[in-house]
Amino acid sequence: MIMKLEPIFKETLWGGEKLKTRFGFKTPYEKTGEVWCISGLKDQANRIENTTFSGKTLYDLWQEERHLFGGKEGDYFPILVKLIDANQDLSIQVHPDNAKAREKGSLGKTECWTILDCEKDSTIIIGHNASTLDELKTAIEEKRVLDIVNEHPIKKDDFFFIDAGTLHAIKGGTLLLEVQQSSDITYRFYDYERLDNGKPRPLHIDEALEVVKVPDRDIKTALETKYFDILFVNVAQSVFRKSHQHGDFVTVLDGEGYIDNILAKKGMSFFISSQTAYQVTGNVSLAIALIM
Ligand code: ZN
Repeated sequence: MIMKLEPIFKETLWGGEKLKTRFGFKTPYEKTGEVWCISGLKDQANRIENTTFSGKTLYDLWQEERHLFGGKEGDYFPILVKLIDANQDLSIQVHPDNAKAREKGSLGKTECWTILDCEKDSTIIIGHNASTLDELKTAIEEKRVLDIVNEHPIKKDDFFFIDAGTLHAIKGGTLLLEVQQSSDITYRFYDYERLDNGKPRPLHIDEALEVVKVPDRDIKTALETKYFDILFVNVAQSVFRKSHQHGDFVTVLDGEGYIDNILAKKGMSFFISSQTAYQVTGNVSLAIALIM
């Protein structure tokens, strides 16, 4: 079964207009930072637009129709796929792993980024150069956070893996696809001393220091997680595929075509249930996220 998913828009201070202009999303916001393409978080789950499940959400299906996911076990729908338009720098942040997030009734947050577009000389922040937790704390106290984080140049099509516990920040001028564990727990570590309506946004230094990895110098450009996988498929004319045992979670990154007889153009997302044979035709670039 091929289910089309209704996108969820998120207004953010740092968002821009690229999700509208590049993907054609009809977002109601002037500054849209995120489009949630594939989400099964309770109250923030994508609605199914077609099939007999029309009107239900991915959350509902995970609760009620687990056979569509090949009987995959687990309390929470495991992944979250977003398109992100950072018009300005995001705060430097860190997420807990599964063990540390469990107390909060959530999964941890391991994530990965595929750079879809960026301005010249753009960078991201991943990891830091501190050798001990004390070194990190001192850097915060002395307002030298930017001296110890790893800032890395980026270009279109780069891929980065960000394990839970790794400090990271998306910088302004970057459009990317994020595939992550389904979690909404973020600890803000540093916000560039910025003011929002005259006041700094709250930081979560204690929580961040509790989950941050030390040392954590390496930039990882390959996926290293047992929770999800991601395939990038460029279709020039026609591709046949059978969906993964737990389903295919498809986001169209570029172009236009069909999945069987359903229109698939850039920005659209689909859930193709367990072990479904399908054909993609046309000229499209797909990201297919998989639950492991
Ligand atoms: Zn993050």
